[in-house]
Amino acid sequence: MENFIRMFMLLREVAVGVIRTFLKDNIKPNSFETFLQQNQHELYHLCYNRGRCCSCGLSPTFPRQAVIRKAQLDMLFLQQPVVNCSSNPRSCSCSYIATQNIELDTIDITLCIAIINNLITLNQQQNDCLTEIRNVRNEISHFAHTDDIDGAEFYRMWEQ
Ligand SMILES: [Zn+2]
Ligand SMILES: [Zn+2]
Repeated sequence: MENFIRMFMLLREVAVGVIRTFLKDNIKPNSFETFLQQNQHELYHLCYNRGRCCSCGLSPTFPRQAVIRKAQLDMLFLQQPVVNCSSNPRSCSCSYIATQNIELDTIDITLCIAIINNLITLNQQQNDCLTEIRNVRNEISHFAHTDDIDGAEFYRMWEQ
């Protein structure tokens, strides 16, 4: 059983590596910091999905659920004092500046998956690849019964 757990953990590590690399490849040639800055408005609403902000257009659409927590948004962005924003200072997204020199490797896997699911447009081949990972996951979880929270969360995300 111990061997099995070790193998399970290893496979999970591999999957995490694949997901990070996948996201990295999709961001290229931009740095993660540039990618965050370009998607600042969308990322803001992945956390605050209840109403329009200073940068919203005429008919904004918001994610049905807040998929990232405030603590996660704060990891990605530094909120500047709202001084240059005049349109809607109560909910301002334009004052969020991407964390300087932020590396993708420092971001937890749940956040990586949230970014992929919401900001990356997948082509057929990439879709197939993610389906393949999902299939492998199904096979692993068929054997694995773990109450590890990270693992459970990781799998829940892949169910979507
Ligand atoms: Zn907005
Ligand atoms: Zn603003």
